[in-house]
Amino acid sequence: AKDITPKPDWLRIKLTTGGNYAEIKDMMRSKTLHTVCEEARCPNIYECWANRTATFMILGDICTRACRFCAVKTGLPTELDLQEPERVADAAEQMGLRHCVVTSVARDDLADGGSSIFAETVKAVRGRMPLCSVEVLIPDFLGNEASLQTVMDVKPDILNHNIETVERLSDRVRAKAKYSRSLELLKRAKVMQPDIPTKSSIMLGLGEEWHEILQTMDDLRAVDVDILTLGQYLQPTPNHLAVERYVHPDEFAKLKEEGLKRGFSHVESAPLVRSSYHAHEQVKSATEA
Ligand code: SF4
Ligand code: SF4
Repeated sequence: AKDITPKPDWLRIKLTTGGNYAEIKDMMRSKTLHTVCEEARCPNIYECWANRTATFMILGDICTRACRFCAVKTGLPTELDLQEPERVADAAEQMGLRHCVVTSVARDDLADGGSSIFAETVKAVRGRMPLCSVEVLIPDFLGNEASLQTVMDVKPDILNHNIETVERLSDRVRAKAKYSRSLELLKRAKVMQPDIPTKSSIMLGLGEEWHEILQTMDDLRAVDVDILTLGQYLQPTPNHLAVERYVHPDEFAKLKEEGLKRGFSHVESAPLVRSSYHAHEQVKSATEA
């Protein structure tokens, strides 16, 4: 990995701890739950937790894939914990969440890719917190349609699947995932449940060209994706893909306009935007749209 320039000002964040951050962290440990907020060292953690949004990572913390941008450990997972959905619901309740995002590592070792645990988790959170919206951020389940159906059948408030990058860079950036398969998944989700908003995310700064970003937006709109998030890729460790470029906030603003012009109902576009950032607002705008 090559040297990267020091981080520009707009990526330096004010760490405003406070609130019940430490308490929530302890609670996660005691329930042996994983959040992406912590594992990915997400820069928005204080803001999100204070706003009662969190992203749980179910199905363990070892992934069968090794995407070159991702800090999650790779290996052969052993965990399949049927109590996990209830523990997530417990934690969501204790945190008083208004918006709960459920995601997972890619469990290519499981026949259903873990989709039944996703479905159980949505049901468990709903059972406990009827007013909390639930967004699922799913892996591609290796293109298995039945697995996707299992998730769509429990009607999550938002179906999220990340395309991550432009087509040209897809094979280099994502392990095993395919650009076309991700589009196919988003398309099928819409056919299965036309009323459920779909969402996807593109990381910027990996060497993509402007016209390729616009093309990716067009490809997502062609399969009726409703919500788009764009954020700066940050290298989690020196062994991960280097940052090619820090995209200026003005460019993010311009891309937001481009997205809205293309008919996305909601676009979050700024350097620190992550897939679940301001997700609660997106539920509102998608259902009001
Ligand atoms: Fe967690 Fe997502 Fe917020 Fe980051 S943006 S803190 S991962 S909910
Ligand atoms: Fe990370 Fe997901 Fe890729 Fe696994 S599949 S390495 S969790 S991005």
